[in-house]
Amino acid sequence: MGCGAREVADLLRAGAATIAEHRAELIDLDRPIGDSDHGENLNRGFTAVVSTLDTAVPETPGGVLKIAATTLISKVGGAAGPLYGTAFLRAATALGDRAELDAEAVFTALRAGLRGVVARGKAVVGDATMVDALSPAVDAAEAAVGDGIAAVLAAAADAADKGADSTVPLVARKGRASYLGERGVGHLDPGARSTALLLRAFAEAAR
Ligand code: ADP
Ligand code: MG
Ligand code: MG
Repeated sequence: MGCGAREVADLLRAGAATIAEHRAELIDLDRPIGDSDHGENLNRGFTAVVSTLDTAVPETPGGVLKIAATTLISKVGGAAGPLYGTAFLRAATALGDRAELDAEAVFTALRAGLRGVVARGKAVVGDATMVDALSPAVDAAEAAVGDGIAAVLAAAADAADKGADSTVPLVARKGRASYLGERGVGHLDPGARSTALLLRAFAEAAR
């Protein structure tokens, strides 16, 4: 598969569709350990990303990701808006003005996204955040670089699913859930779940 701006826009559309489909689930995950807005916040943001891409698709993958970043930052709010926004912005910057992506570039973009989330939120693996899904996803993506873009994204999605599940027994150390301490144990982190959902949507769309 050639992966230019149009294909990257299609990945984002697939991500937006998944977030819309799982809006209620993400709200339910955020209820006991947060403020019940994660699904609503992300759905508003990704709906706006799709609207913007429907008016014009930029010429480069990096341009598309930059639009996603600025839209998510302005529309999502809360913790997740700046975190996802920074992830997409760093990914866009890492891609520069290249017109077509290969597997190595997709991995590089994912890694830049993770670094952006960590720079912004200061969470490490085990803090029960989206980093618990994204960090193992980046490691798995790197190991699959030789197998092409679809394999990179599939490996990332598989690892993100496991990583999200790993948040259930953890005490959250960042974000709203951390206010609960031990009482937050036993819940899947909503941001880790949304990260896994997005990566799965990207992987399915890239097949
Ligand atoms: P808010 O908590 O402001 O309502 P959301 O509900 O949209 O924001 O997003 C909550 C998610 O954001 C959490 O489930 C977690 O994955 C993620 N999160 C919160 N703080 C951090 C952080 N410092 N680093 C990484 N991820 C974080
Ligand atoms: Mg919330
Ligand atoms: Mg909130």
